[in-house]
Amino acid sequence: MSGNDIRNVIIIGSGPAGLTAALYNARANLAPLVLAGPEPGGQLMITTDVENFPGFPEGIQGPELMQRFEAQAEGFGTDIRREIVESVDLSASPFSVTTEEGTYRGKTVIISTGATARWLGLESETRFRGRGVSACATCDGFFYKDKVITVVGGGDSAIEEATYLTRFGSKVYLAHRRDELRASQIMQKRAFDNEKLEILWNSVVTEVLGDDLAGVTAVRLKDTQTGEEREHATDGLFLGIGHDPNTAIFKGILDMDDDGYLLTDGVKTNVDGVFACGDVTDHVYQQAITAAGMGCQAAIEAEHWLEGQE
Ligand SMILES: Cc1cc2nc3c(=O)[nH]c(=O)nc-3n(C[C@H](O)[C@H](O)[C@H](O)COP(=O)(O)OP(=O)(O)OC[C@H]3O[C@@H](n4cnc5c(N)ncnc54)[C@H](O)[C@@H]3O)c2cc1C
Repeated sequence: MSGNDIRNVIIIGSGPAGLTAALYNARANLAPLVLAGPEPGGQLMITTDVENFPGFPEGIQGPELMQRFEAQAEGFGTDIRREIVESVDLSASPFSVTTEEGTYRGKTVIISTGATARWLGLESETRFRGRGVSACATCDGFFYKDKVITVVGGGDSAIEEATYLTRFGSKVYLAHRRDELRASQIMQKRAFDNEKLEILWNSVVTEVLGDDLAGVTAVRLKDTQTGEEREHATDGLFLGIGHDPNTAIFKGILDMDDDGYLLTDGVKTNVDGVFACGDVTDHVYQQAITAAGMGCQAAIEAEHWLEGQE
């Protein structure tokens, strides 16, 4: 596989960020290599309707959108390989990127390994993902007009999601495992002042209930103090318990914040010639269009960097 040849650009990750970077670098005749990783196509492969990606007025299924990204990048000469990167050596260009198949060398590296939403880990939650269970209020809130929604979490991001969802839902519940919120005071005030939002204290979701036709109809809640369980009717369950950026292989090599997101200046990491884009470096927007936009930026920066080396 790897041989001694040195690639112009190695892109780690094949979500919207990585495949957009690949498209731009391929059209610049750089023949990029994409190492697709454990989830080829990225997070949109596990969702159904995507209604907010421009250019698709009728909406598009997540997997179909990503197949189109892939076909477009490949059509211009991207080499996509379904391999998982296990380690990197970014001490000097050409950089080394090692998968289970061997080691590739690249003059530049673009990192687009994304972030993984935290789920509860329930079998029933997996069953209803995309059919009543979501980890993205911005993406899926619109589908819950005048419906009852339950959000899990107690930190700032959960309250932000819950508050946002009150624009759509007839009622929004926030199920929190403790008897006080972890969120900042200002976010707590926002939650308490919102008439549509009700907090279910000392409550954990132990099961998602529903059927194949209706999707989610209720969740089973357990009281963390008494152990009692009850059914709580809801049309949707949103997880607001955060994301984990996929950066374990870069620990001690690249600068990252306390949560593990890569720190960048624009799309430049602290290593000259190594760029990062998409959710791996963005804990704010986390959308396909923003990831794709950053992928474009990273590709153009990589091109400029390569020109500067000549
Ligand atoms: C259920 C759900 C629904 C969503 N719906 C929408 C929506 O409707 N609209 C919208 O705009 N956004 C939506 N999002 C958010 C959107 O999916 C993300 O913002 C976007 O996918 C981020 O793109 P990315 O390329 O940065 O990373 P990701 O899509 O996360 O892709 C990361 C890539 O990195 C690869 N990777 C990870 N580790 C390694 C490794 N060690 N070696 C090689 N590769 C690796 C993975 O295989 C994957 O290909 C949704 C997210 C979820 C979870």
